[in-house]
Amino acid sequence: MRRRSTDYIVLHCSATPPTADIGAAEIRQWHKAKGWNDIGYHLVIRRNGEVEEGRSLEEIGSHVRNHNASSVGICLVGGVDARQRPRNNFTAAQWSALKNRLADLQSRFPSSRVIGHRDFPGVTKACPCFDAIDWAEVNGFRVAARFQLVTASMLRAVRREVEDGDEIDNVASVPVTGQGKWLAAILGSGGAGSLAGFGYGMDWLSLLVLILGLASITCGVLLTIGHERRERLWDRLFG
Ligand SMILES: [Zn+2]
Repeated sequence: MRRRSTDYIVLHCSATPPTADIGAAEIRQWHKAKGWNDIGYHLVIRRNGEVEEGRSLEEIGSHVRNHNASSVGICLVGGVDARQRPRNNFTAAQWSALKNRLADLQSRFPSSRVIGHRDFPGVTKACPCFDAIDWAEVNGFRVAARFQLVTASMLRAVRREVEDGDEIDNVASVPVTGQGKWLAAILGSGGAGSLAGFGYGMDWLSLLVLILGLASITCGVLLTIGHERRERLWDRLFG
């Protein structure tokens, strides 16, 4: 879907260590594995400064909850150390590519302002692992107002960027990935088999078998419904 306005240019990082020389192709794969239509970012800046196209610039991306419809998302590859701790470890080539692209984007989208993912309200992680607003201001770009300050717990957030579910894509059709499907099938049929076995007698062993059977059917169902719906279910039950 095409964007009507472009109020923000949101900076992200891939939350991968500096040794991971990845780009748009890998990130597209991660996002599609989550059931999204396509990669969530519009641009990806590799470690060597090469800029790769993600989602088309005019389209609504999938990178920052509640603001996808009015923003462009740029992902810098890097941002954590070998132990997944947030680090501002981007290369000189990446900074210069970012400056070039921001200059282009801000002339193309005159109302756009630069902001970091973590500066949006309710975001609880360190992405993009540097102060995007400060950096952009120093470098002469128009910047957004900060919605929230970065806390120590955000800097400790070790969740990978791709696991955060900032998307607006249709999640009703989340496909079960290959492995999950097999596991679900095994657990489900194991459960059904146990239930059938229960019919033969009613001693304590059958009761145990019944409980195990029901548990594995539950696991099978939980695996089948996919990550997004599992989270929603969890929120409804315990949130
Ligand atoms: Zn991000």
